[in-house]
Amino acid sequence: MSTPPYPLLSALLAPLGLDPGEAPPDPAGWQAVLAAIERGIGGLQLELEDSRRAYRYSADALTRATLRLRDERDQLESRVGERTAQLEQSRSDLMQAQRLAGLGSWSVRLEDGRVDVSEQFALRLGMDPAAPPANVEALLDYVLEDDRQSAHRAVQAALREPGRFTGELRVRDTRGEVRWFSATIASQSDPDGRISHLHGAMLDVTARRLAELRTQRLALQDELTGLPNRTAFKQDIAQAVERSRVRRSRFALLFLDLDGFKEINDSLGHDAGDDLLKQVAARIGGCLRKGDRLARFGGDEVLVLIDPVRRRRDVETVTRKILAAVATPITLDGMNATVSASIGIAMYPEDGDDPRRLLKNADAAMYQAKQDGRNALRFYAPRINASLREKVSMVNDLRAAVAHGALGVAYQPIVDGNDGRVLGIEALARWDHAERGAVGPSVFVPLAEETGLIGAVGAQVLARSCAQQVDWDSNGHSAAAAGGYLSVNVSPVQLRSDGFVRELRALLADTGLPATRLQLELTEGTVMADPERAARVLGELAAMGVRIALDDFGTGHSSLAYLRTFPIHCIKIDRVFVGDLGRGGAQAAIVPAIVAIARSLGAEVVAEGVETDAQREALLALGCRAMQGYLFSRPLPPEACGARFFAPMAEAAAG
Ligand code: C2E
Ligand code: MG
Ligand code: MG
Repeated sequence: MSTPPYPLLSALLAPLGLDPGEAPPDPAGWQAVLAAIERGIGGLQLELEDSRRAYRYSADALTRATLRLRDERDQLESRVGERTAQLEQSRSDLMQAQRLAGLGSWSVRLEDGRVDVSEQFALRLGMDPAAPPANVEALLDYVLEDDRQSAHRAVQAALREPGRFTGELRVRDTRGEVRWFSATIASQSDPDGRISHLHGAMLDVTARRLAELRTQRLALQDELTGLPNRTAFKQDIAQAVERSRVRRSRFALLFLDLDGFKEINDSLGHDAGDDLLKQVAARIGGCLRKGDRLARFGGDEVLVLIDPVRRRRDVETVTRKILAAVATPITLDGMNATVSASIGIAMYPEDGDDPRRLLKNADAAMYQAKQDGRNALRFYAPRINASLREKVSMVNDLRAAVAHGALGVAYQPIVDGNDGRVLGIEALARWDHAERGAVGPSVFVPLAEETGLIGAVGAQVLARSCAQQVDWDSNGHSAAAAGGYLSVNVSPVQLRSDGFVRELRALLADTGLPATRLQLELTEGTVMADPERAARVLGELAAMGVRIALDDFGTGHSSLAYLRTFPIHCIKIDRVFVGDLGRGGAQAAIVPAIVAIARSLGAEVVAEGVETDAQREALLALGCRAMQGYLFSRPLPPEACGARFFAPMAEAAAG
């Protein structure tokens, strides 16, 4: 504080009739001066005479005190200002932090029941912070009905005793939306220990809860169709079992697998396959009642729970409706496609009283429906399981036989029907089962194809027969067999596998059999399934010198236009047509047609299954000389075949 200039002092003293340089006034005059000083004009340097010293001192002391007080007031004011700014900053920081954290708060003063809510809390609930709920009850009204009871209990507990109560509750905001809060309620006591306030901290966890719910839903949902997935459906079955046990009612579990789905997926692409699944799922859904459940088990497997049901007949009605709905032509990518379904049905409780068994039996029944020609429904029957078990044991035995190299090969000659000369020899897989005896390739080859064993089976037959042929060639000197070819059957699965040509090349190198002595028999289906790929592989094989034969010709569907593009050396007429030759059956007319096709393709023709002389003669008359069949020889074990057709020259001449 600066010292006021003397002119001011003069101005002050003048109204009192005083002058700073004058003799001291009377005490009353000084009182006025002091009062003036006290009012705030501090720091006067009064030049007073000695006789008035006492006054001067008091004036000094007053001045000093006044100055000190002022100083303190000023400091206080500036401190208050600073603190106010700090508080303002903290408040806004807190608000900001609360907003970021999703934290809101409320409090209740018990004295009058007054409720206060924080701005954040009000904002989240869409209420006006200036008009908070009138009382606790009004506050609790925001809590969702299901959670209100427990919220109420927490408030009551906080009112009874000091402490904190936490829990999660759902609140409906003024816009009607549900929000999840993690809530903490604490009571506050006054100095006498009486509870005076309730405070609530409300952390908004809505986003996290929704994310959790979404993850939970995804975990139980099939992404493509939006239907419940395997996990969810198993829970559904378990619940149905529980319900039905209590109600003493029945339900049906349908296991549905699409027929021909793989073909559509392969030919039209995965997008079309996905589209098909969605459309089919919607159609099946359309056949069901409200309480029934539909789920996708992955792939093209769909499950249905029909609960409750009274009679099998009712289940059959619904299932037939589903079959019809699935089989209605479907538009995919602008094209019309048709699929069908095979459906297996297991009933609770007679076909199983737990989810695992019901699923297994419905699956087995579905498998039976497939076996019985597809587009069909089958109720589970215990014998289904028996045949499935048998199949499983067969596959296991086959796997073991392949692993031990225990498969055998039989050989059947292909001869010139005119002079009996051996033109070639066909290798036919054989399986001598320890308990079942001889199991034919028509049984175990499809089984091997289904289980992926065919690669190993085919490789074994190829390796064995090539080595056998080389062996006969080196030991025997049979003129009849010289230069004849070895004909080996190849499954479509083998031909599709990537390493087939490479492995065959290695095998030929290993055994030393010239590629030109080997013929591979493929069915029409094998080459027509993927003509482009077949053309490429057959091209490579033909370039090596390997002969290609079309086996069982006439039984499949092939396009002549395509056949022309394949390097085909030989066509084998299926024995169905040959069989009719001698009897003058309807199929007999096919043989000359096939002979003509073979000619037009520049291929040789072999008639299979020639059993009678009449057939032989008819074939010769049609210009087909190469024949194979029981008339000439049954398929023989290697030793018998070797002795008969590959014996050394001398023996053969003698025999
Ligand atoms: P396929 O290639 O058409 O073989 C001819 C089948 O006709 C053989 O049956 C043979 O025993 C039988 N057969 C021959 N002559 C006559 C006859 O005069 N009358 C009658 N009724 N049948 C005759 P098999 O050995 O039971 O083979 C059946 C099929 O299994 C074969 O038909 C072939 O498609 C398949 N197969 C055989 N071995 C193999 C193999 O190593 N690999 C593959 N992928 N398939 C094989
Ligand atoms: Mg064959
Ligand atoms: Mg054949």
